Amino acid sequence: MTEESAALYVVPTPLGNLGDLTRRAGEVLRSVPWVAAEDTRHSAPLLKLLGSLARTLPAHQHNELAAAARIVERLKAGEAVALISDAGTPGISDPGARIVAAVRAAGCKVIPLPGPCAATTALSASGLTDEHFLFYGFLPNKGGQRRKAIEDLRGNACALVFYEAPHRVLETVADLAAVLGERTLVIARELTKLFESIHSGPLTAALEWLKEDPNRQRGEFVLIVSGAPADVDDHEGERVLKLLLADGLPVKQAARLAAAITGAAKNALYERALALKE
Ligand code: SAM
Repeated sequence: MTEESAALYVVPTPLGNLGDLTRRAGEVLRSVPWVAAEDTRHSAPLLKLLGSLARTLPAHQHNELAAAARIVERLKAGEAVALISDAGTPGISDPGARIVAAVRAAGCKVIPLPGPCAATTALSASGLTDEHFLFYGFLPNKGGQRRKAIEDLRGNACALVFYEAPHRVLETVADLAAVLGERTLVIARELTKLFESIHSGPLTAALEWLKEDPNRQRGEFVLIVSGAPADVDDHEGERVLKLLLADGLPVKQAARLAAAITGAAKNALYERALALKE
């Protein structure tokens, strides 16, 4: 292996299409003596296909700290360990972050490999032109908490990236539409797999589109919603502006702070503050 020996390699694995495993990922998985896997049985066929003779150790959400201790032990003994999850990049809505933190805290090296990730794959095909994106991952399972989480994101100008499972996709899209209203929703389903589909359309029409054909509700989903339009920022700007004015801040300072906090236009807020004062 041209790579270093006693390091933790964070190795992304394919989302569906085995051709997406990078050459470097294959080399690392073939050459390390240990692979820490989210589900060792799930990953066994991949390791077999690669001809990897690595011993596996389980590293899932219920044993992450114990797994981290075992991994640090192997690293301290001078052995390399590769960390993989069931699909995609470890640590991205998957176990891995605690292991990486423990390895780093123990003074051992962490080497990340680039590779498959559902969020970036979906984003690259979304066609959304928002300058920034916010990766949220899974929203809460419970309706009330989910709507609250969406409400908290309402004023955010970033495109919002969510992961969702098939049995919750209808509820989640319904909540996104109810809270966020007229926006664009990109539904990226079964990426890199046989039934891959990427649909883009108005968020408010998405529920009907999903219901029209039950096949559209099957598989794994990335949902991307376009960011808050400028007028929502303005609305939020005005809300913050009023709070600051009510707290006794001078017009100029209140407008400057409200603009900095919400991203709304400073001059417009200044004019509005003057009008409110009158
Ligand atoms: N670590 C993974 C990554 O890097 O994308 C994500 C793991 S998370 C447990 C699984 C979720 O990722 C799925 O519920 C789905 O939202 C999304 N996902 C994974 N594979 C996908 C695919 N092929 N197409 C669309 N979404 C996918």
